[in-house]
Amino acid sequence: MSSSSSRLAWLGAVLSLLALPSIGEANGLYSHVHMSQLAVAHLPAGELRDLFDDPAFVIAYENGSMLPDSGYAAGDPYGEFAHWSEFRLAYIQYIKDNYGPDFDSAEARRHIGVLLGAASHGISDQSYDTTLLARALEIDEEDPELSPDQYADYFIVIDDDVVFTVDADAPYATLSEVMTAASGREVAADTIMEGMDQAARVTRLQSDSALAGSLYWRAWEAYPFLGTHVYNEAAPGSLPYMSEVIAKHWQVLWRRLHDTDDPDTDLVIHTVPEDGGVNFPVSVEEAGAYGRVGIWFGYPFDRDIVGEMPTMRSADGTPVAVTHHAAYDGRFRSFLQLEPTAPLAFDTEYIVEVPAGVPTLDGRTSTEAYSFSFRTQCAPSDLDACPPYEPFVTGEVPVRGGSRTDAGAPPEDAGQPDAGAPTEDSGGCSLSPRAGGFAALPLGLALLLIWRRRR
Ligand SMILES: [Zn+2]
Repeated sequence: MSSSSSRLAWLGAVLSLLALPSIGEANGLYSHVHMSQLAVAHLPAGELRDLFDDPAFVIAYENGSMLPDSGYAAGDPYGEFAHWSEFRLAYIQYIKDNYGPDFDSAEARRHIGVLLGAASHGISDQSYDTTLLARALEIDEEDPELSPDQYADYFIVIDDDVVFTVDADAPYATLSEVMTAASGREVAADTIMEGMDQAARVTRLQSDSALAGSLYWRAWEAYPFLGTHVYNEAAPGSLPYMSEVIAKHWQVLWRRLHDTDDPDTDLVIHTVPEDGGVNFPVSVEEAGAYGRVGIWFGYPFDRDIVGEMPTMRSADGTPVAVTHHAAYDGRFRSFLQLEPTAPLAFDTEYIVEVPAGVPTLDGRTSTEAYSFSFRTQCAPSDLDACPPYEPFVTGEVPVRGGSRTDAGAPPEDAGQPDAGAPTEDSGGCSLSPRAGGFAALPLGLALLLIWRRRR
């Protein structure tokens, strides 16, 4: 492709991006789909995992992963509604009523796929925004002109070769019926279809190597911490980190569909730090958002009832004062954080307990307490006793014109890429020369994009 024709193609892509009325609110859905894709590998062998071998089920869960943000793209309040447990509870009930207890028809499986995708999206937004993104914005500072959600997509497209598209295909009539009944507000099937068509276009645009290759550099300039850790599985809230939480959540949903769930064993599905974790930072002053303890629930809870139930104490029984935070300070949530109001002691074991008697939004109540423990970092003067605390810091930032780098790893070779021999298969690598050449061009156009963040 000649320079001028590729420039025209790039312009076309940008213009079609501008033509999407509310794409700004649809950002990040590309990453949402990918988190679901990554979650599949964390499922144990069995009936649930087997569903993902069916191409029709893949289409369903990938569409479900886009569903919540598709409402933003359509400019309809169903986008907000589809993020939350009220929708998922109604959808679970619909599926159970119409297809249970076997769920072995193609239609039933399609609904389950959409449900799992939407659940993946909902739990990830709550978690990512309050962990990895919150930490990133403490370090990188948000650029009001560059939505971190949209720009984070470019890291994975270029640095991690995550390139895919999703064609819109969902049970619109049923989704309309379920959302209308559960929200008390008419949600037309055509509106959902329109939103999902827009969402599918987003996947085509976000994965477009020419577009991603250009905006990628701005992403690294604006959000180097996010670029370093968005694909670091050790960083709480990163895409691979969340995929493990999603897989645990899916297994609880599967058991809830089959009425084989247990509000004791399924109540808490994941924590940060994990049970037995070490080197937890003693102060949020030091680690910001990563200094909070996080609890993911297998069931949605009512913050007004459950929000302050979990407690924290040191191993000798001394209570630790904490503030409790439900994501977005919302009422019905699945993720809760505890923030100590004063620095913790060095090299000390702490216990977090969720007491028995937690009511879930689907009418169950736990009968056993759930607790986990962790140990704080050693004092700087006492590092012989335990390994040093290693905070997550910004890594090496790739350089325009240099070779591409994997997230978190320094470039192995900062030399010029071979501009003469880009290949179809070389993914982001072949973009470097073009991205450099277009650096000035997209600036003005990109500034026109009003990327307004929702969730
Ligand atoms: Zn969302």
